[in-house]
Amino acid sequence: MGISDPLTKRLHSALSWEHAPGLNCFCTVPMPNSIWKSDNASSSYRVPSQFRVPWRAFSLVELLVVVSVIGILAGLLLPALGRAKAKAESTSCLNNVRQLNLGWLLYADQSNDHLIYNLGLDSRQPIPNTNRSLNWVDNIMSWEVTDTDNTNLLFLKKSPLTPFIGSTAGVFVCPSDKIVSDVQRQHGWTRRVRSYSMNAMVGDAGPNVQNGGNIVNPGYRQFLHLADIPNPSGIFVFLDEHPDSIGDGYFYNKVADSEWAHLPGSYHRGAANFSYADGHVGLHRWKSAQTTPRSAPFTTTLPSVVLTNGQADFQWIAYWSSSAQ
Ligand SMILES: [Zn+2]
Repeated sequence: MGISDPLTKRLHSALSWEHAPGLNCFCTVPMPNSIWKSDNASSSYRVPSQFRVPWRAFSLVELLVVVSVIGILAGLLLPALGRAKAKAESTSCLNNVRQLNLGWLLYADQSNDHLIYNLGLDSRQPIPNTNRSLNWVDNIMSWEVTDTDNTNLLFLKKSPLTPFIGSTAGVFVCPSDKIVSDVQRQHGWTRRVRSYSMNAMVGDAGPNVQNGGNIVNPGYRQFLHLADIPNPSGIFVFLDEHPDSIGDGYFYNKVADSEWAHLPGSYHRGAANFSYADGHVGLHRWKSAQTTPRSAPFTTTLPSVVLTNGQADFQWIAYWSSSAQ
């Protein structure tokens, strides 16, 4: 069919096709053969001017609507993403305390049921002629930059737990603990190397053990052997400690004095992770603002008398720490 055909002429005239004779159009977009039935199957076309949509920018109102919708979506999604991230970090933290606790149990199994040494600040000592510490961990956290305990992984490698948990230093730090002081941040530090402590009432606490108890908590049992613990599912071993409280790895409170000597952590949306002597782990959420100061340097004053509304948290810690003699 040629351009001279009357029907083709009318069609082209109606659609304003721009073409060469014989339906050879000057287009930029190739058309499938099934559309063009002409001999020249690779013909292209140009959109007729009356069908072209004029290009224009967003109006201000349209732009504001788009921005508002994006803002609403972000407002809905960001908190959900934050909660998911916090949940993931808490789960990872639980895995850490589970692994530490497993090493603690294996140590006892390999040591005639004797629990690993749990020595406080003044009782640390190396094992003679070895590169091991006697204590489960010897480094003392602080907010200083001159104190290499905060960053030196050697303290963790020397831990007698290491043969049972592998040499992964990351297991000693909570994923939510990225707390450093201003001066530490200025020196390029991003975190310290330990977030966990051990219940002072489990393990051999050296000279702190007297008459079957602990000098900080007379009248309560000090568990030296695994078999000494009457209810292993009811005694905690490792816990998140508050970053402004943690120093050594020896977590105690003076029950008789109703006094916080150390504060548990509250990294996980006002809760802390615990491991227990039977190997199970769990998250515990605190009730009082006194127990959950902001996870930051210089936010606590210790020791401090437990406030009335903080008694439930304090008694919870005491209950899961030991039992009366
Ligand atoms: Zn944690």
